[in-house]
Amino acid sequence: MIQEAKKILRETFGYDEFRLQQEAAITQVLDKKDAMVIMPTGGGKSLCYQIPAMIFDGMTIVVSPLISLMKDQVEQLREYDIPAVYLNSSLQPEAYEYNVKKIVNGDVKLLYLAPETLMMERTREMLKDLTVDCFTIDEAHCISEWGHDFRPEYRQMAEVRKDFPEAVCIALTATATPRVQEDIKNSLNLEDSEAFISSFDRENLFLKVVDKKDPENQLLDFLYTRKNQSGIIYCFSRRQVDDLAYLLEQEGYSVKPYHAGLGARDRAINQRAFIRDDVRIIVATIAFGMGINKPNVRYVVHYDMPQNIESYYQQIGRAGRDSLRSDCILLFSYSDTQKIKYFINKKSENEKKVAEGHLDDLLKFLESTECRRKPLMSYFGEEYGDEKCGMCDNCISVDADVEDLTLQAQKFLSCVIRSEEKFGANHIVDILRGSKNQKVLENDHDKLSTYGVGNEWSKDQWIQLSRLLIRQNFVSKGEFGSLKIEKPALAVLDGSENVFGTLDRTSTSISGEEVTRTSSEIENEYNEELFELLRQKRKELADEDDVPPYAIFPDTTLIEMAYYFPQSKDNLEALYGVGSVKKEKFGDAFVGIIKTFTAKHGIEERQKSLQKRVQKTKSTEKHDLIGEAFNDGQSISLLAEEHGVKEVTILTHLKKFLDEDNDLRLDGLLEASGLSDRQRDQVLKAFKKKGPLMLRPVYDLLNKQIGYDELRVLQLYYLAQNK
Ligand code: ADP
Ligand code: ZN
Repeated sequence: MIQEAKKILRETFGYDEFRLQQEAAITQVLDKKDAMVIMPTGGGKSLCYQIPAMIFDGMTIVVSPLISLMKDQVEQLREYDIPAVYLNSSLQPEAYEYNVKKIVNGDVKLLYLAPETLMMERTREMLKDLTVDCFTIDEAHCISEWGHDFRPEYRQMAEVRKDFPEAVCIALTATATPRVQEDIKNSLNLEDSEAFISSFDRENLFLKVVDKKDPENQLLDFLYTRKNQSGIIYCFSRRQVDDLAYLLEQEGYSVKPYHAGLGARDRAINQRAFIRDDVRIIVATIAFGMGINKPNVRYVVHYDMPQNIESYYQQIGRAGRDSLRSDCILLFSYSDTQKIKYFINKKSENEKKVAEGHLDDLLKFLESTECRRKPLMSYFGEEYGDEKCGMCDNCISVDADVEDLTLQAQKFLSCVIRSEEKFGANHIVDILRGSKNQKVLENDHDKLSTYGVGNEWSKDQWIQLSRLLIRQNFVSKGEFGSLKIEKPALAVLDGSENVFGTLDRTSTSISGEEVTRTSSEIENEYNEELFELLRQKRKELADEDDVPPYAIFPDTTLIEMAYYFPQSKDNLEALYGVGSVKKEKFGDAFVGIIKTFTAKHGIEERQKSLQKRVQKTKSTEKHDLIGEAFNDGQSISLLAEEHGVKEVTILTHLKKFLDEDNDLRLDGLLEASGLSDRQRDQVLKAFKKKGPLMLRPVYDLLNKQIGYDELRVLQLYYLAQNK
């Protein structure tokens, strides 16, 4: 049956291959075995139930909490001629009855339902006489009180499910925290073997953190080259949203605000305008984004600091669902941290602890000088094995930005020593800048030799230096934020070591060269003029059908059209996202434009070879090479030496190799483990119990006795063995 699924993937949806865990999950569902699918946003969860739905004889029910998403899904399916309807409280009575009739007549393959609609006696009565083959719970994290969007009605899903004894159950979510995943599994009584968890890394998002200095201009710099792109700008307060939206409008941008202070109607209008490409930018408080599925959001700007890593991850996740390169910029300032601290201090003791922990994690991420994906992924219990992602500011930073800061560092460090390592950065800076504030005077710090020796720099610069010194381990933070001297600082003070770093991390613009380096050939080379024409056509067709433009074709398809210049409808079919139905419906309209354009400019069609699809240019061969060498008998340590990388990197490559449906030599993995047989069995049992995809729960279950390096080896062993 998986062959049939592949055929649908190609012919209906126009995609070449399954992604991530799609194939495994679909195989499971087609076997009528329950499944929990956890994939990041944009990973492609919908196909995991939509394709089985098209294969099953009976109907597939999809429970979804967000009315706007339901409509969106149905509209998209309609463009593929897949019979789908929804029932929820937003429908007018006539439309509702019309849909009911279709359902009862057996004309519907996919039925989307709000949980409260499903619970209604009337609905249950109607469904009783119908064959339901699949029961899908979308946004399944709503089941969990630990999730960010708990819905009490969702608790009853396990019960309602009994109405459909023949149906297989599939639960989907993009929530990455292990606790929520556990909850879903328990609520629905799923076994470990039924979980399909994909990596949470969103490879196409470029992550950049800059120091916030002159935010309006920093934002305008960033937007300057992005006039035609869709993006979201997140702010802390409603007022900030209104001010910024006004500013951008004055600057000629197509922009709307979104926050809870606007009426529900205005919010809906602005959101719709954004989704339908009538407006390019939304400036929003964190309230914006749930229930939008727009795939071509090209950037997300955090104008203010997000609350914690989880919300940051969720918000940047709204960019680049279409897998094209997208930018995520965060403006980071010390005073924003204070704002968040202020709110944290208002919480109860217990909540305060948790929130402080979250803030620390966030700061760790923001201040990191290593690849951003490491702290980000590790927050979600995932190990990021590659040394460099090549898609974050830290990975592509150039040495030219680095300055010699030794002199100021010496002043700062000696001031820390002279004030006896009892004070925090703010106070040290006050001394250096010769402040007359009470705390300085009370402590007689105006008598220190370092008093007032730092007027060449602003307070802000000194604070930045203090953070850099912490990051580079010259000082550490002690109790109550007081700074302590670490050993390496002594070498700086006696002049035997220099301090280098970048204080000015304020530039928001991403150079053309940087963009080119981090995009695929097609993204770099497509014809933008033609793309604009195609986009206008798409908008026309979308308005005619009253659907969002991406329901016609995603940007990726138009970009491929503007790169390959296909001259006939049949040649269109080789492109991303063009299946037979859409080819017939829209092919002529687009090919017409392409032909006129190419004739006018004397451009020839490019032949499409499979490898050239819009795809990351990252090498994919390395893990194959390593996997094969390993299976040929080379040990992990030898491979690490040979490739000049850490063993953990080899393990990551092997995992990738395994994920792509290859086998791994089990004895080679055992060889790499230093555990006793007994310990090894304990670890394997723990993987069985907790699921093999996250290390953290297993690490905890074993009382933190067995290190991550060992766990990683056995994780691979477990996965390879249970393939
Ligand atoms: P999610 O629900 O996980 O956020 P979606 O199901 O909306 O993601 O999928 C995101 C986009 O990726 C959609 O445009 C979808 O059509 C596309 N997509 C899904 N699976 C594949 C695949 N195997 N190959 C190419 N594109 C895919
Ligand atoms: Zn990186």
